[in-house]
Amino acid sequence: MMKKAVNHSRVQVVVRLRPVLDEAEIDVEPCVRELDGNSLEIFNWRNNKETLKYRFDAFYGKSSSQEEVFESSVASLLVHTLNGQNASVFAYGATGTGKTHTMLGRPGDIGVIPRSVQKILSVAKSESATWKYSIQFSYLEIYQERVYDLLVPKNHDLQIREDRDRNIIIPSLAVKEITSYEQFQKYFIPASHNRYQLCISHYTKMFTLLVTKVQQAEPFRKLTGKLLLIDLAGSEDNKRTGNQGIRLKESGAINVSLFVLGQVVDALNQGLPRIPYRDSKLTRLLQDSLGGTAHACMVTNIAPEERNYMDTYTTLNFAAKSR
Ligand code: ADP
Ligand code: MG
Repeated sequence: MMKKAVNHSRVQVVVRLRPVLDEAEIDVEPCVRELDGNSLEIFNWRNNKETLKYRFDAFYGKSSSQEEVFESSVASLLVHTLNGQNASVFAYGATGTGKTHTMLGRPGDIGVIPRSVQKILSVAKSESATWKYSIQFSYLEIYQERVYDLLVPKNHDLQIREDRDRNIIIPSLAVKEITSYEQFQKYFIPASHNRYQLCISHYTKMFTLLVTKVQQAEPFRKLTGKLLLIDLAGSEDNKRTGNQGIRLKESGAINVSLFVLGQVVDALNQGLPRIPYRDSKLTRLLQDSLGGTAHACMVTNIAPEERNYMDTYTTLNFAAKSR
């Protein structure tokens, strides 16, 4: 692919296919075919078996492990955070495709969020002779353009500000300092069960790791970086929107943040001069962690079953456009 002349770093776009979950469907031929580490094909039985081929920065097939996704797509972003820069990873896809599995995982098969915490804690420990680390996290939910604190559930409709150094901040959002994985679990596990909306697919959860490190000797250099790890609302909320940006905002049924995220990623990857960060809460929060000198990766989750074909098709086109 030709490199475009852009001032912003490009958003990496990778795709992850989840395995068939239902025993009864194991033998049914899926509508997704794995080609190689970058590409896949989908085909539609109803439409003359029309075959479409897609290529991405990486493609993780149904046998991909949590470790593989973390090591090849997230670990390098974490290095930027440890060097005082910002980075973000967001999971995009329809409900039931594996976004939460990828970001959170389950006990014994943990995902991107706990792996990132473990990695940062272990680097902090190994560098403790030369750097003094402070590691903090916050956890919030965005629903219908309102921000809710998942660590302190009574805090909602939080306001977003930009400070003098152009950092995006939420002054009243709770932050927890952690020095061990056990401590992280103690705060995080109950918070991960909090949610404001009964309908489980329509909200976005954002986990932020803030890493500050100060040199133990002259010149006492100080570096601050953050890593945003985001489990997006189900993309089935997004497909109804088409390109009708004006009508979009009038309808509560449509997810403004998801729609604007697509426009922001497109604008960044096409090198457009205006990036519409301010048009949604999510992209406003991502403003200092996506584009500019920040590094980002969108993990696009898809399901293999034929009945999910339309969601798979729409999701892959969204992802391909973003690339
Ligand atoms: P989403 O958050 O996108 O709605 P989930 O992460 O909840 O989807 O995944 C739906 C179901 O599929 C869950 O039971 C999850 O454990 C399972 N699942 C998703 N991805 C994988 C995977 N790569 N390997 C095994 N199980 C998976
Ligand atoms: Mg989920």
